[in-house]
Amino acid sequence: MSAPPENRFPSDLYGGRLTIDVDAVSQNWRFLNDRLNGNSECAAAIKADAYGTGQREVGQALFAAGCRTFFVAVPAEAVALRQVLPDAIIYALNGLLPGTSGAYLEHDIRPVLGSLAEVEEWTGLCKASGRSFDAAVHVDTGIHRLGLSPEEFTRSLGDPGVMGPFVPSLLMSHLACGSTPAHEMNRRQLDLFRDVTAPHAHLPRSLANSAGVLMGGDYHFNVVRPGISLYGGQAIEDEPNPMTPVAKVEARIMIVRDVPEGDTIGYGALHTAKRPLRNAVVAAGYADGMLRRAGSTDERPGGFAMIAGHKAPILGRISMDMITLDVTDVPEHLVERGAYVEMMGPNVAAADLAAYADTIDYEYLTSLGRRFERVYAPLT
Ligand SMILES: *Cc1c(COP(=O)(O)O)cnc(C)c1O
Repeated sequence: MSAPPENRFPSDLYGGRLTIDVDAVSQNWRFLNDRLNGNSECAAAIKADAYGTGQREVGQALFAAGCRTFFVAVPAEAVALRQVLPDAIIYALNGLLPGTSGAYLEHDIRPVLGSLAEVEEWTGLCKASGRSFDAAVHVDTGIHRLGLSPEEFTRSLGDPGVMGPFVPSLLMSHLACGSTPAHEMNRRQLDLFRDVTAPHAHLPRSLANSAGVLMGGDYHFNVVRPGISLYGGQAIEDEPNPMTPVAKVEARIMIVRDVPEGDTIGYGALHTAKRPLRNAVVAAGYADGMLRRAGSTDERPGGFAMIAGHKAPILGRISMDMITLDVTDVPEHLVERGAYVEMMGPNVAAADLAAYADTIDYEYLTSLGRRFERVYAPLT
């Protein structure tokens, strides 16, 4: 497959390579779509540059797979996506920041209205032009970020001064605890969403993110908005992840060296060699999205890389431009200077790595830097 235009230089000049498999993204979308009943449409959350995997490439692949509705966060992402997908339905989750309504109308993008002020502004536009412009209305069922309160939502949608000029194209809410299906918050949000939207059940409704899709039909309504699952991530904690990996990060070995027992590795001298070690220093660091918190100290282990089936633990602090790996137990011919090492991918799940960095795979994916060579190709 062809490389995107940002790869201006030969592969050897990069410290590492980010490979993204857009066919695997489409495969994940089909997997989720197949779990829905006939009343529900599988949309796609492709905000934050499709969670770091490339909005343009992923948007095109998903549209070709049959996806017609896309959610991004901010208007600039929506306008960029519109240039790639002239016929898609595009929602911007962050809604109607002041000064953005003109762009929404010009580019046929739908804001997700998240406050009374936003609903009033949009209704005013509809009134003035005598035409209902498509937009979603977000009701907050407990996460307390964006969304009208249930009372505001009920009052607003029951007001002929609003619902006359403006007919929402979608009613939506967002789960706070989807990653833990047993959390009672899920049921509570589901019940509240059903109650407040019941008088308007003829309008399309949407509650589920990836976790909501996996939690089953009660959560599906008419549109589902998976993000992380499309990118192979772990939507539900402590359960086998049914999704296919879509991204792989490989970094090149710069040098391999010996560290005597008792010596320390990296900034801060935080990791002491407890035996004579053989280290490989690879060209990827926190500037490339390898989160610094995944480093190791004498007190706690860090993340790891994989080299042809062999685990290579991260030793000491992760630096801006490099990481030191313990390759003492890796056969020598696999750790030659210049070789590529898998830092994340089919054999190093971002969710596993994230556990070492006190975070979630969402942060790993969206942090992946632009300094790697970027390749769109099947993961082999
Ligand atoms: C990001 C986001 C999603 C997608 O969530 P995932 O957990 O990645 O599936 C869906 N809905 C809203 C409102 C979001 O902000």
